[in-house]
Amino acid sequence: MWKMGQHLVVLAFCLIITSICATAEVPEALSAPVVGSDWQADRLDEKFGVKNNNAPPERPVPKRMLPPLRGEDVGVIRRVKVPEDMKVAALTFDFCELQTKVSGCDMGIVNFLRTEKLPATFFMCGKWMRSHARRLRQIMTVPFFEVANHAWNHGNCALLSRAELEEQVLATQGEYELVREKLLSPNTQDAQDLHQMPQVPQLFRLPYARSTPQALEGIAALGLRVVLWDVVAENGSDCTNIVNARRAAARAAQTVRPGSIILLHANLVPRGSAQLLKELVALLRDKGYRFVTVGELLSLGEQETVMDGYFCRPGDNLQLDKKFGPKGTGVGRREH
Ligand SMILES: [Zn+2]
Repeated sequence: MWKMGQHLVVLAFCLIITSICATAEVPEALSAPVVGSDWQADRLDEKFGVKNNNAPPERPVPKRMLPPLRGEDVGVIRRVKVPEDMKVAALTFDFCELQTKVSGCDMGIVNFLRTEKLPATFFMCGKWMRSHARRLRQIMTVPFFEVANHAWNHGNCALLSRAELEEQVLATQGEYELVREKLLSPNTQDAQDLHQMPQVPQLFRLPYARSTPQALEGIAALGLRVVLWDVVAENGSDCTNIVNARRAAARAAQTVRPGSIILLHANLVPRGSAQLLKELVALLRDKGYRFVTVGELLSLGEQETVMDGYFCRPGDNLQLDKKFGPKGTGVGRREH
């Protein structure tokens, strides 16, 4: 039974990544006023709505470096131990983007969270931040949204050298800084809407959930806490179909417990995640849950930490090492 569940989770993840294909040539209107203006989804949000930009990062090292973590904070956080009667959970959304392909921005998810005033944490690849800078600037203005680091171009931390790992983490911190600086510029018409968005992200999520003890040490030395999940909401079925979405939501809701961290994707891979999210939130609200960012959740209890990265059980993601090129970025990938 477990094997089948494990297989489904990994299959779902493969579908998420592998469904990225051709790119339409529509440049993003980076200079357009963006903050607090148009939240309506448009073609630039589509999965291939902007041209893939595989240039190196503009700021490979951020101006602001975080102090190294203390020893007890080294490791992978999967959930937070809170009192059993404290019904809190964290909704988290990954914006994965390979070096070779552009992914999208699911405004169905962003707008649902925003209008329902649901705190959420977004783990963004630095390259995604660059592809969708206008959306990142908007997201930064929402006080209950948290932005976190998901490597530059989805490099697999178990396959990277220490130097490559540092590049993945730091370039994403640098890209965040650049976007934030643009938002704070006196020429930005809505700069006054900006809340106290941190200078750089404090949390990191492992692409493919893959790591090694050395990688965890390397990330900790850069001052970011590594966060995965204890609930995988998407299960590979087509959740644009309401029946499937309800089934997946019911399955996920059953596994949520106080202090859970829930994984979803908001890069339009897969496409039904917005519908799944709405169903899941309704079920959890019925159970009395409220939602917090991962940052807030960490302040409410003791983190549950392991020294390995995986979806549901140790080793369930090892086969992903072979699917996305030697570094996991899509470069050198063998098409099957
Ligand atoms: Zn990812």
